[in-house]
Amino acid sequence: MGERNKHGLGRTIPAEVKRIVRKRCGFGCVRCGLALYDYEHFDPDFKDALTHDENGITLLCMQCNQKRNRGVLSVETVREANKHPKCLSDGFASETFDFGTKSMTVIVASHEFIDCCTLIAINDFPVLSIRPPENIGEPYRLSGRFADETGEITLAIKDNVWAAGADNWDVECVGPRIIIKNGPRRVALKIKSEPPHRIIIEQLNMQFDGIALRAENEKFEISFDGKNWTSFVGGGVAGCNVGIDLRNR
Ligand SMILES: [Zn+2]
Repeated sequence: MGERNKHGLGRTIPAEVKRIVRKRCGFGCVRCGLALYDYEHFDPDFKDALTHDENGITLLCMQCNQKRNRGVLSVETVREANKHPKCLSDGFASETFDFGTKSMTVIVASHEFIDCCTLIAINDFPVLSIRPPENIGEPYRLSGRFADETGEITLAIKDNVWAAGADNWDVECVGPRIIIKNGPRRVALKIKSEPPHRIIIEQLNMQFDGIALRAENEKFEISFDGKNWTSFVGGGVAGCNVGIDLRNR
C-alpha cells in the first residue's frame, strides 16, 4: 500500500473528517454495526480520490473491508449501506470484550476492584457488575451502564457485549480504548481493556440518579450535590458483594 495515490493524496484522513464520518455512520460498520472498523473511500476509491471528502468515505469492519479488497463486495452495496447505516437503525454500535475464565480486576482511575460482584451500586441499581462464568470454560461476564454528566446513557455493557449509542457526539475506538465525548474535548468516558483479566476506566464524567461520578488523573471522585466531592486515590476493595454502595434516598 503506497503512502500517496497517483494524485499525491496521502493516507491520513484529517481528524475532523473522520469524526464527521463516524457520527454519520453511527460509530460502526455501515453493514454489520460492529464498532471496530476502518475508514473506506468508496466514492471514489482511495486510488482515484483527489481529497478526503467526508461524503465519499464510510466505515467498514475488517471483514467487510476484506470483502471489498477481494472484490466480493460491490461498491453499490457499500453505497447502499452507507445511505442506511446499520448503527443508525439499531441505535448503537457494538463489540465484545475478551475476558477470561479467571476472576477480573476493574480499575477506576487508580481505585481497584478485585473479584467483586457489584462494583458500584447507585440506589440499589448495579452501575457496574461482574458475574462468574455460567459454565466451565466460559468467561467472566461484565455488565454496566455509563452515562454522561446529564445522565444520558453513553455506553451499555451486557455480559461483555458493549453498545455505544449512535446519538453520542463522538465514539472512537483507538487501540484497546473506547473514548466517548459529548463535545469537543469533553470526555464522558475513556475505557481501556487489557484482556483477559483487566479493564481500566481511565476517565469518567457521569451522573446517574442524581449522583455524580468522576475519574481523571488517577483520582476517582463521587458527589451527591455536584459541589462536594469524596476522592478515592489508590487503594481498592477485594472479594466483596458490593464495592461502593451509593444512596441519595
Ligand atoms: Zn461489516
